[in-house]
Amino acid sequence: MTTPMLKFVSVAQQQPEKRTAQNRRADFDEIYEDFKPVKAAEQASRCSQCGVPFCSVHCPLGNNIPDWLMLTANGRLEEAYEVSSATNTFPEICGRICPQDRLCEGNCVIEPGFESVTIGAVERYITDTAFENGWVKPTRPLRERPESVGIVGAGPAGLAAAERLRAVGYQVHVYDRYDRVGGLLVYGIPGFKLEKDIVSRRHRLLEDSGVTFHLGQGVGDAEGEIPFAELRKKHEALLIATGVYKAREIGGPGAGLPGIERALDYLTASNRRSLGDTLPEDAKGLDAAGKNVVVLGGGDTAMDCVRTAIRQGAKSVKCLYRRDKANMPGSAREVKNAEEEGVEFVWLAAPEAFLGDDHVTGVRATRMKLGMADPTGRQSVEPLEGSSFTLDADLVITALGFDPEPLPQLWGQPDLAVSRWGTLKVRQDSFMTTLPGVFAAGDIVRGASLVVWAIRDGRDAAERIHKWIKANASADAVAEQG
Ligand code: FAD
Ligand code: SF4
Ligand code: SF4
Repeated sequence: MTTPMLKFVSVAQQQPEKRTAQNRRADFDEIYEDFKPVKAAEQASRCSQCGVPFCSVHCPLGNNIPDWLMLTANGRLEEAYEVSSATNTFPEICGRICPQDRLCEGNCVIEPGFESVTIGAVERYITDTAFENGWVKPTRPLRERPESVGIVGAGPAGLAAAERLRAVGYQVHVYDRYDRVGGLLVYGIPGFKLEKDIVSRRHRLLEDSGVTFHLGQGVGDAEGEIPFAELRKKHEALLIATGVYKAREIGGPGAGLPGIERALDYLTASNRRSLGDTLPEDAKGLDAAGKNVVVLGGGDTAMDCVRTAIRQGAKSVKCLYRRDKANMPGSAREVKNAEEEGVEFVWLAAPEAFLGDDHVTGVRATRMKLGMADPTGRQSVEPLEGSSFTLDADLVITALGFDPEPLPQLWGQPDLAVSRWGTLKVRQDSFMTTLPGVFAAGDIVRGASLVVWAIRDGRDAAERIHKWIKANASADAVAEQG
């Protein structure tokens, strides 16, 4: 018997249980409990099985959402896993950290009137259940191919490409300057959004599939790194998936004072602490315990910083943002979580100067007012004269965004073309950069974006690399015959 769908009329939306704010402030564990089987089936059955599913249209991976919801509602979880994993390399990760309110769930047609189907939580549940039941198996190619592909960067873009390329039999080598696999999944995103064993489980699986990882191995011209030109000679094709890591800096009086730190340095130190690593001496200050903390910025990275500071036992945590809540780029769900955990938001305020002699002691800020909207609908801001005020601060964290590192200079590759933002230029139809046989995917092409887009790009780039290697092999064969 099949479970009828369309239950959104009689069954209310329920996300998995969320730990109380007081309880979750005490550790870095994920804040949502797992769905129970009955609850997952019930929530999945709310879907109205749209003929044109807008949820799928707005999922960067085009996930076949209505089908896996229907299978989950009917308890056919192994099949649900098959369908879900056919389009998504890491569904359990996306289910946890996609900003669903802006993507699939935000476009679920039962809203308004009824709250959306809990797509992300069901997606996570399906794959977690698949892992528990041993349904997730290493990728086994039907035949091995002699050609090898080198991937620079073990973030979601590089890993998604590695899995797809291995599936068609390539010898895949992934190089990363970090000592762990996952890129920002491990060292950027905090454990309360994504526990690290979820990522290491994928690392093991890829190794079992035959992917070779070269960790702690930077690519570049510095000591101990592999020069890019050498890598090109080693592999038939290369994929650059190095992400974007150059933090945007803040200026103004006092901006160089000790105690003003970059978001990613702060988050990486916190993640390393949770992983049991020993931090170098100069990273000891990257701890909010007992401090008045001011975080500058309004995106998801700023949200991760404020919530990390709360868990480290900060005396006070304030987030300073120059626009208002409605114009904030960060996910509304994350802002709500931060507010529940005790973060104070100072809306419509921008820093003017940093106070202190040999260490920061405060931030002088000015009130802002919203002006005209630009063509994208985003309102401009301008300072309100004579509205300065001061916030106490022993630790100021700047979360103002990231730009790409200058790869052509760092790698001595002047022919590797970049856009005016420094991102790598690729051909839309082939993902190839201006260097033949060198492809690129993820944040290094898009600029700072989302995990789900990195996965999509990695998968697409792998397909194009396969096509290119095959085309080259046939051209060589024709040349030999001729
Ligand atoms: P990355 O994940 O950055 O991986 C790049 C890898 O390349 C790294 O491992 C790096 O060590 C390696 N590398 C770089 N240069 C070299 C080199 N020269 N040699 C060798 N290795 C190199 N997205 C979401 O969808 N949801 C979220 O909740 C979310 N939260 C975020 C929180 C923070 C704090 C940050 C900073 C980002 C967040 N994002 C989030 C964005 C998301 O993490 C990125 O869009 C995504 O990780 C990009 O994937 P990538 O594979 O392109 O790059
Ligand atoms: Fe939604 Fe992200 Fe899953 Fe797509 S991958 S269905 S956007 S949670
Ligand atoms: Fe189901 Fe909502 Fe997607 Fe329609 S838009 S198929 S109701 S999840």
